[in-house]
Amino acid sequence: MHTTRDDVGSPPGGGDPGETRRGFDRHARYINPKWTEALDLLGYGRLFVRAQGTRMWDAEGRVYVDFLAGCGAVPLGYNHAEIVRAAEASLRANLPSFVQLAPQREAGLLAEALAARLHPDLSRAQLVNSGSEAVEGALKLAYAATRRPGVLHCDRSYHGVTLGALSVMGSSRMREPFPSLPGTEAVPFGDLDAAERNLRTERFAAFIVEPIQFEGGVRLADPSYFVGLRALCTKHGTALVFDEAQTGLGRTGTLFAYEGMGVAPDVLCYAKALSGGLVPIGGYSTSPAWQRRAYGRMQDCELVANTYGGGALACSVARRTLELIDATLLAHVGEMAARLGQRLADLERRHATLGQARGKGLMWAVEFAPPTEGVATVLTLGIPNRIARELFAYWIAQRMLERGFLTQVPAHDPNVLRIEPPLVVSGEEIDAFSDALGASLEENEDFVRFVRGAGGRLIERRLSRDEGR
Ligand code: PMP
Repeated sequence: MHTTRDDVGSPPGGGDPGETRRGFDRHARYINPKWTEALDLLGYGRLFVRAQGTRMWDAEGRVYVDFLAGCGAVPLGYNHAEIVRAAEASLRANLPSFVQLAPQREAGLLAEALAARLHPDLSRAQLVNSGSEAVEGALKLAYAATRRPGVLHCDRSYHGVTLGALSVMGSSRMREPFPSLPGTEAVPFGDLDAAERNLRTERFAAFIVEPIQFEGGVRLADPSYFVGLRALCTKHGTALVFDEAQTGLGRTGTLFAYEGMGVAPDVLCYAKALSGGLVPIGGYSTSPAWQRRAYGRMQDCELVANTYGGGALACSVARRTLELIDATLLAHVGEMAARLGQRLADLERRHATLGQARGKGLMWAVEFAPPTEGVATVLTLGIPNRIARELFAYWIAQRMLERGFLTQVPAHDPNVLRIEPPLVVSGEEIDAFSDALGASLEENEDFVRFVRGAGGRLIERRLSRDEGR
């Protein structure tokens, strides 16, 4: 939907193409050269310089509708007026920010607002700065409370990139370059028997699971799986940890996904969207009983200390964000979810290359059945089928970018395009996105060309990396 500038108001700056190159060069020189190279190869070479609502503008004045939403961190759209106002009010009030030796007023207010919205058992919140840190905190709490040596997680899980969270990462590609915590084991997502076999050993402090595996390719499990897990964890004394960094804060149509599952976890992790798209924050909530078991003694109460967690600015913005994700917005998510689901189902029927559309709320994936012609071309280059298939999703993401829509391939499932617009997305934007996806799926000829060019170079890099392991 590369609308003209007139459709969307004033463009940023003067539309300076040189600014894109300078931005990329600077990033390559001072931050991460290989990452910028990969972006270039994938055809993502754009510098975004302004954002408002569901829209982003690049340095050349082109406008995009964001169906990625900062990987879930931008629930209300960019620079939402009420969020900006909350941040300004917090800054103008000259609040003390990182008080270490006294209760933080704003943190208390946010924790109270969370408790009012969560299951009554989840009344104690610990505030941190990211999803990874929330997961670290949840695992530490379970270890401290149970004094058990292991943690169970799922294949294809994604819980963050700090060392503890990485130890429960369900992808060897991301986990194996680093040492893992001892005693972590993976079981297939949705497989209750496998969970039971492990949990009954009573070696596990926690079972950590995402209600919907997002980076794993938007994988859903039957609700009975979570009911079963709840019963097994209670029976065997394991803390059930739901990582709702992605699914939380309205993404699946309820404030937290567990509400739709008929069970509550012992520890609930949240992050991303609580930031209001502006100020990083994360946290985890648990019951007074679990907290007491872990940190009930006077000498243990500071084992969770961190410098920035509960800071005034982040908490003021998060509290306003919680208020704005209200019943009206959740009803809107429900409506938009039905519309998106319908449009994607239509595409699934019409396009052989779209294998399956799946999702809940405003969290969806389309899984591809790449065109045989394109894949055959790759195979003639001696490239394994698995990698040939992966390229198609990157190719579609690139075509969508050309059409003015931001989407991405998830971390653990390169045959999928993830779809995660801000919760405030409109029906017209969903229709335009779906039309663009349909048009992109019709460009198989160009996929073959892509594979022969930049795609082929990407494959070579990928293969040499795999062989290097
Ligand atoms: N948990 C889940 C389910 C996530 O999807 C992510 C990020 N993709 C994280 C944790 C890590 O969050 P952060 O990047 O804020 O550390």
